[in-house]
Order: sequence, then C-alpha cells, then structure tokens
Amino acid sequence: MTPDLMEQGARRLSARAAPSAPTASGGREASSGRIAVPGQVDTAHGRILYLEDVHVSFDGFKAINGLSLDIAPGELRCIIGPNGAGKTTMMDIITGKTRPDSGTVYFGSTIDLLRHREAEIAQLGIGRKFQKPTVFERLTVYDNLELALKTRKDVRASLAFRPNSEQQDRMAEVLRTIHLAGSAAREAGTLSHGQKQWLEIGMLLMQEPKLLLLDEPVAGMTDDETARTAELFLSLKGRHSLMVVEHDMGFIREISDIVTVLCDGAVLAEGTLDQVQSDERVIEVYLGR
Ligand code: ADP
Ligand code: MG
Repeated sequence: MTPDLMEQGARRLSARAAPSAPTASGGREASSGRIAVPGQVDTAHGRILYLEDVHVSFDGFKAINGLSLDIAPGELRCIIGPNGAGKTTMMDIITGKTRPDSGTVYFGSTIDLLRHREAEIAQLGIGRKFQKPTVFERLTVYDNLELALKTRKDVRASLAFRPNSEQQDRMAEVLRTIHLAGSAAREAGTLSHGQKQWLEIGMLLMQEPKLLLLDEPVAGMTDDETARTAELFLSLKGRHSLMVVEHDMGFIREISDIVTVLCDGAVLAEGTLDQVQSDERVIEVYLGR
C-alpha cells in the first residue's frame, strides 16, 4: 500500500473511528469528560438503544417529531416508512451527525449519546453503513479489511503495520462471513456492487460494533445478492444488534422479527411484518392502497 493511500485511509478512518489501543486507565476520554470504554454497554435493562420523545426541525420543518423507540440486545430491527419519514435523520441522530432539539437517546442504560461526538459514538461500538459503498477501489479486499483495523496513529506512524494473529483470525472469519473468502486478493474496484456492499459491512465488522445501522443495504443489488445479504444479516443477529432501513419488502420478510413503521418523524406502527402490513393506518400512508 502506498503512503499516499494510507494517508487517505487515515483521513477516512478518523470518521469511522477504528479502535485504538486503550489508555492506561483502560478507556478513552470522551469530550464530555466521561470515560468511553468500548466493550462495556450496560444492557441489563434489556435495551441496547433507547430513544424517547426525540424532536428535530430543519427550518421549521419537523423531520423528527416525538420519536420513541427501543431495541433489545442482539435484535435485528427493521424500519420501513415512506420517503421523507425521517429514517435517515433518525440514524443521523443516533450516530451524532445531527443534534436533536429535544429528547433522550441512550446506548445501553448508561451512555447518553447526546453527550458524545460522532467519532466517539463510533468508538463506543455503533457502526453505520451508508447507502453508497465507500471501499478503497484500488486496494485489495484484504487490504481494505486491514485498513479498517488501523487507527490514525498506526497509519501515520508505521508503514509496516501487520495484524497480529488474533486480528488475522478475525479477518479470515469476516471474509467468510461476507462471502469474500475466495476474493481476498482481488482489487475492490473489480467487485460487483453487492460484493462492495458486503466488503464495507466487513470493514465495519472489523471494529466489532455492538450496534450496526444499515440504510437501504440491498438497494441496487441483484436478487441473488439480496438473498445472500439476508443470510448475512441473519448470521450477524445475536452477536450484534442491527437496525435495518429498507424498502424491499421481500428482503424485510426474510430477515424481520419486529418491524417499525416510521411516518412524519414518529412511529406509526410496530409489530410483525404481517401485523403492520394489515394495519389500516400503514396501508393508508405507506402502501398507498
Ligand atoms: P427518509 O430517510 O425516511 O426518506 P429523511 O430522514 O432523509 O427521510 O428526511 C426526513 C425529512 O427531513 C425530509 O423531508 C427531508 O427533506 C428533511 N431533511 C433531512 N435532513 C435535512 C437537512 N439536513 N436539512 C433540511 N431538511 C432535511
Ligand atoms: Mg433515507
């Protein structure tokens, strides 16, 4: 890998906030002055994510308007809703990209996400996948995963970064999980759209997130890729908590337990896919029948 690419990687990863070596105290100082310790999210109350009465307006327009929602540890929650319902804005709030005007947003029962910045929230164990894949096209699949392990400091300080054996094992495991074990040496730019999406999910997995937020992950995928992505998500459930925003109802049917329907910045309905699809209010606003 050239120093140039590594620098570029360092800049990109500072936003991703790859894990760094723990400080002497075993954790990292958050801007709020509290210690952010990755690996410790208190879910004793049965919730990994908790939003209550969240509001945000853009120039007077109420994009999020009294949103309350919670997710259990290991749950795979599907979020559906018409365009403009506030699904992406909700993810922006959880990840610290957008500050709400009011409301409560907790990670586990003790971490107030509104007191943390975007990079800290990633370090705390919340990974986010945007719709467009953002892998490094000129690097191999393997190098992309390796890059996801590095901190800004690692990249700057040493061109000779080598993953330790534990990290190598994890890379091999992630390669299998994302169906790319046979493609480790391929340049990422030669992968199909779906494979690039899986690689990006793999890069997130290298950081061992507790909660993964995925915004329209199967958009643009072939039917076969969509089916394999459903398999992939089901295999992640339990070890990770997932929040998946999607429009593809066949995909939702494959992976969902509980589906939350957002509309006008709040929860309109929640239940199994069959329950919400037969809800009159949902039919009216979302299914347009
Ligand atoms: P969804 O992802 O459900 O389609 P979004 O969360 O993207 O919906 O958007 C919700 C509403 O908020 C939309 O009407 C959108 O135009 C508006 N919105 C989102 N972000 C901004 C922003 N930064 N500035 C102004 N309006 C925004
Ligand atoms: Mg959106």
